[in-house]
This record gives sequence, C-alpha cells and structure tokens, in this order.
Amino acid sequence: MSSLLKTLSCADDYDPESLSVQRAREIILDLVEPVAGSERLFVRNALGRVLAEDVTSTANVPGHDNSAMDGYAVRFADLAAEGETVLTLAGSAFAGRVFAGRVEAGQCVRIMTGGVIPESADTVVVQEAVRAEGERIVIPPKQRQGQHLRRAGEDLRAGEPAIRAGKLIRPAELGLIASLGVAEVKVRRRLRVAFFSTGDELCSVGTPLGEGEVYDSNRYTLYGMLARLGCEVIDLGVVRDEPAALEAAFQQATAQADVILTSGGVSVGEADFIRGLMEKLGEVAFWKIAMRPGRPMAFGRIVSGDRSAFLFGLPGNPVAVMVTFYQFVREALLKMMGVSPIEPLPRFRVPCVTALKKRPGRSEFQRGVLFLDDGAWAVRATGSQGSGILRSMSEANCFIAVEPERGNVEPGEMVDVQPFEGLV
Ligand code: AMP
Ligand code: MG
Repeated sequence: MSSLLKTLSCADDYDPESLSVQRAREIILDLVEPVAGSERLFVRNALGRVLAEDVTSTANVPGHDNSAMDGYAVRFADLAAEGETVLTLAGSAFAGRVFAGRVEAGQCVRIMTGGVIPESADTVVVQEAVRAEGERIVIPPKQRQGQHLRRAGEDLRAGEPAIRAGKLIRPAELGLIASLGVAEVKVRRRLRVAFFSTGDELCSVGTPLGEGEVYDSNRYTLYGMLARLGCEVIDLGVVRDEPAALEAAFQQATAQADVILTSGGVSVGEADFIRGLMEKLGEVAFWKIAMRPGRPMAFGRIVSGDRSAFLFGLPGNPVAVMVTFYQFVREALLKMMGVSPIEPLPRFRVPCVTALKKRPGRSEFQRGVLFLDDGAWAVRATGSQGSGILRSMSEANCFIAVEPERGNVEPGEMVDVQPFEGLV
C-alpha cells in the first residue's frame, strides 16, 4: 500500500466511512508541508504574502526617548513637592528637530509629540497644565517622574526579531517593517492552486443552458476564495465525467500546481466511478465526513512523472464546496503557504433566536446572520438551508457551527458562530 494511505490507516481512530470534522482537519494538516521557494519583494508588494525569514530590528524603535504629548520637558528634581515651580524656557524640541543643549537646573524646554527628550530632562508636563508668562513657565505640583515619555526601544529593541518567519503580512506588518527602515523582505513564493469542476450537466457562463444543465458556479466561488487567500490560481475549466478527460486534467494540473481542487464526482455512485482512476494516478482516500453539508470528500496526492500535488476532491453542491473549503482546505493552504502558527477560524458563542433542525452525530454548518439584538450580538438562521442553495451563503454573514453531539436547537439556546468577515 502507498505511504500516504498507510499513514492514514495506521491512525487508531481513522474510519473513512465516518470521520469527524476535527479528525479530518488534523489528518490533512499533518500531511501537508510548506512549499520550498522564496523571493525578495519590496515591502508594499509583500502584502498578503508570508515571511520566509525573521525580520530583525537593527536599531531601537523608537530610536530615542521622546515625548508622548505636547508640553514642556523638565527635570523632575527641580519641581517643588507642594506649590508651583517657576522654570525658565531654554528652547524647543519639535519632532525631527532636537534641542541641542542640555537642560540646566531651573530650566525647561518646549517639546512637541515625538520630540526627542533633551539631555538631563526626564519628565514631560502637558501644555494644558502650565501657565506660560513669556519665558517664565509655571508648573503646578503633583507631577509624576517620567510621565508622558515614550522610551527608546519600547516598540522594538535592536537585535530582536520584530516579526517572525511564517507571519502573513497584513497592513500592520507593512508598517512595522517600514518602521525598521527595511525596504525589501524575503517571502515564500505564492502557492499554485489548480482547480476544475466535474459534471456532464455543467454549462459555462455566457453560453445558453441546454436541457437539464446548470451553470458552473463552483469555479467562481473557488476562484474568489483562493484569490482572497493570495494563491496563484490556475483555472482548468469544466471537465466531463469521463475517465480520459479527468486523467488528462489531473495530469495537466499536477504539472503546474502544488494543490488541485475539484468539485463534484465524489458522492457514492460517482466516487466509485473515479476511485479506479485515483488509484491509477496517485493515492487518494475517499472520506465520508460526519458533517453537513460536505459529507463526501476525497483527499490525497496525485503523481505525474516526478511531480506530485495534493488533491482535495470537494463535493459538488455549491454550499458544500464553500463549507469544506473553509473547514479543511483553507488551513491546509495556509500551512503550505508557510504560515505558522496556523490559527483556526475564530469561533464564539451567541444566543440563536431561531429554531434549528439538527441531527445528532454530525457537525452542521448552517448559514446564519449575526445581528445586534437590543445591543447584544445574536444570530438567526437564513431562510433556506439546502446545500445547493448558494443564496443562503450570500445572505449569511456567518456559519452557525453546531457540535456533533447536539440535536435540535431551540430559540434562545447558545450556539457557536464563525463570522465571514475577512473570510469570504
Ligand atoms: P455531485 O457531487 O457531482 O453529485 O454534484 C452534486 C450537486 O451539485 C448536483 O446537483 C450538481 O449539479 C451540483 N454541482 C456540481 N458541480 C457544480 C458546479 N460546478 N456548479 C454548480 N453546481 C454544481
Ligand atoms: Mg457530478
């Protein structure tokens, strides 16, 4: 038996006829590895990419102690414990313009936010608190030593890694990298994902529908989900339910991509039809996952010449495609992109105001709308929950993830939700 399938069947709780969502996620995450290969990019072009090496700070950030407020830099020791203190204005320190001298006893320096704290000053008094009478600055009592200072290196210390390899670069990272003066970073190459739809009934957009045909929507949702993740997408179109056509498509995909996503053709009757082909082309396990929607799914590896690619054979139903993508494929792709650590989708508990039909024994991912109910977040189910009804995904703004052991949910019970924001 091939290595991948052997690994699978050795797992003590591996049952391809009934796999829990959790177990399937673990198996997949365990088997995929980050792609090798990196490139150097200008900081801005690295948005959405994954750092291939630590970015280390070569200097303290900020470089000097500086003021957090507009006011006056003073020597705390000069200030009277009780009553006012009168200091003499010796000059000014604005952001980008340092005060050259040192502050002598009885003196103070006008300072703006970001201005470098002059030598021997150790405290900033906010301008609203003082009375300025020409060069005489009157400071009220009860100041705190060191107040309103931003310390050198409080953001980052010289020599410390500022961002670790494996970080997905978001706007905050772009800024953080720029704050170090770094112009170029090393990132992983983009993950190449090929995808195609399978089915004799599928018709491509822009052509009239024949009898019994449906438009191929899965390639569009898949394109969107992959593009959002920052993958390089290779769209191989619609492939008929014919072994020769499928074999050619798999070979073409393996030659070009790290990962292959297909939709359709993995439910009971159809799976039998392509199972033989999969055995010929690689090592693919056909799973029945204890979930709804998304029960049938195939996962494995396709080999062509000296190349191989991971395969996710997703179900054909349009909602099931999205559910299985977000529950299994997303994390696997992130790991292959080099993201580390992998964080699961955020999930939190809110009251559900509608009744949910749910059968115990499987995880269900119903489509919900999170809304503010008198100032507190609650969720309601979208109207139709059929796994072919893509409108339910479009109307929803979250999954309602109901645990396997639960049955029907009554209005008012607490449920887990996974918000779509930032996801779809
Ligand atoms: P299958 O898993 O191939 O049996 O497909 C299950 C259901 O999903 C059938 O009703 C198919 O017509 C539908 N379906 C499969 N692929 C697509 C697709 N690419 N776009 C829209 N519907 C699809
Ligand atoms: Mg089909």
